[in-house]
Amino acid sequence: MHTDTDVLIIGAGPAGLTSSYLLTKAGKRVHVIERDPVYVGGISRTVAYKGFHFDIGGHRFFSKSREVVQLWDELLPDDFIDRPRLSRIYYGGKYYAYPLKAFEALMNLGVFTSTLCMASYAWAKAFPVRDPKNFHQWVRNQFGEKLFSIFFRTYTEKVWGMSCDDISADWAAQRIKGLSLTAAVIDGLKRSLKLNRAPAAKLGESGGVKTLLESFRYPRKGPGMMWEAAAAKTRAQGGVIRMGHSLKSLRFDAANAVWTVEAVAQDGTVETTTARHVISSAPITELVSALQPAPRCQNAAAQLKYRDFITVALITRAGKVFPDNWIYIHDPSVKVGRIQNFLSWSPEMAPEGYACLGLEYFCFEGDGLWTSPDAELIELAKREIGQIGLISPDDVVDAAVVRQPKAYPVYDDLYAQHVEAVRAEFDQVYPTLHLVGRNGMHKYNNQDHAMMTAMLTVQNILAGERLYDVWSVNEDAEYTESGVSGAEEALKSVRLVPRRVAA
Ligand SMILES: Cc1cc2nc3c(=O)[nH]c(=O)nc-3n(C[C@H](O)[C@H](O)[C@H](O)COP(=O)(O)OP(=O)(O)OC[C@H]3O[C@@H](n4cnc5c(N)ncnc54)[C@H](O)[C@@H]3O)c2cc1C
Repeated sequence: MHTDTDVLIIGAGPAGLTSSYLLTKAGKRVHVIERDPVYVGGISRTVAYKGFHFDIGGHRFFSKSREVVQLWDELLPDDFIDRPRLSRIYYGGKYYAYPLKAFEALMNLGVFTSTLCMASYAWAKAFPVRDPKNFHQWVRNQFGEKLFSIFFRTYTEKVWGMSCDDISADWAAQRIKGLSLTAAVIDGLKRSLKLNRAPAAKLGESGGVKTLLESFRYPRKGPGMMWEAAAAKTRAQGGVIRMGHSLKSLRFDAANAVWTVEAVAQDGTVETTTARHVISSAPITELVSALQPAPRCQNAAAQLKYRDFITVALITRAGKVFPDNWIYIHDPSVKVGRIQNFLSWSPEMAPEGYACLGLEYFCFEGDGLWTSPDAELIELAKREIGQIGLISPDDVVDAAVVRQPKAYPVYDDLYAQHVEAVRAEFDQVYPTLHLVGRNGMHKYNNQDHAMMTAMLTVQNILAGERLYDVWSVNEDAEYTESGVSGAEEALKSVRLVPRRVAA
């Protein structure tokens, strides 16, 4: 089968569906290929199982970008709920509020360890590592060695499966940006004294350290609701979404400025689409290996690494269980990294009388955890939930396992160089191939970033030229090339999308 379209989009996750919605709204012909046979939403999908709904990790809807928030409201006007955020850290058999409460942390750690924390903080401030290169050095400069070893090392190494000395400082700077010990202690003191009941920041407002936010919005049946709505609206506007179709190959005919893209369906049949533009939210490694002829950057792309993820959903009749949305498990005696309590995200995530906990395991595709049969993973999760003491393994009445390959693009020492090699070649050779989103750009970012890169890409396609450099969108979904308010300026025109420009 052969189809011709204006824009072919690889992936029906947040980036792909933001693109498809805005392009079809502007009158473009759009064809989306999505590998998953059932779910749209990518990593932001919501899995349904016997009346239960669960995320691939809980997905908060928060953005400093007003344009992203407006688009969320446009796509899903009636189904957002406001949720209080409650999360704790489990370490050494004790629970710590997260973000930390100063008095509680001091009590739990004891006088001796607390004094050591303060002394090592003072030492780090007096003698910082100049030009910190890795995660360990960056956090040690910010919080001191002792706090690093208690509250950062174990969890971070569980998530990434590598030493904090091998993780780039970029990642720390991005994820814990704006959070210093002073800010954390002041915030913690206020929490201890119950002086800061107001949310740290509301949606779309700037300010408020990302890690300290106290409330967030959430679609009542999970983030998948948002992306199902985007898919439905794309289709209603004439777009085509082909589920269960994986990218097989893409080839550019420079003389005619046309892409030919092959996608393979689950039954093995191959569909061919010709398009003026391709938007890719597929992992860079997959995109580059599908390009024909192979580009110069193929070796660089092949060296990009990913971390994979398993959720074991344990279903229980044990009522509300605990109030947190999630608990970080810093304790090295168990493999589980984080536990979600889906009912705390929304009461509609489980049928009446049941609760569902998501035990999250970080792994590499093909390693022992990834290849374990579901039954073994469920046994492991039951054993560990019992060991932590949240529920008794005997109270688990059912369970399901969800695997998410390439959940995290890894920021190792060389990732930036590899991404730059791909970007430089594509900018030069393929101006109509647009990389967007998380794995599409190898950026460890949230939905709002993925959406903003898609929104600006749509602007570029509609204008027929690269007005915006999507690589300038930062982790807060702000367009930084022309300053902090650049994204706002850039997107004023999103609402004035011209219909005439030939793609
Ligand atoms: C544990 C966890 C928790 C998170 N929590 C939050 C949160 O609280 N808030 C938040 O905003 N974000 C959160 N995120 C991030 C969020 O999931 C991502 O930023 C977002 O889903 C990225 O969207 P995307 O479209 O770029 O990529 P993806 O979601 O990865 O979607 C890409 C799509 O492309 C498809 N695809 C890939 N390769 C191919 C191919 N070769 N052929 C065809 N189709 C293909 C995939 O199947 C997928 O559907 C979290 C992520 C994780 C892992």
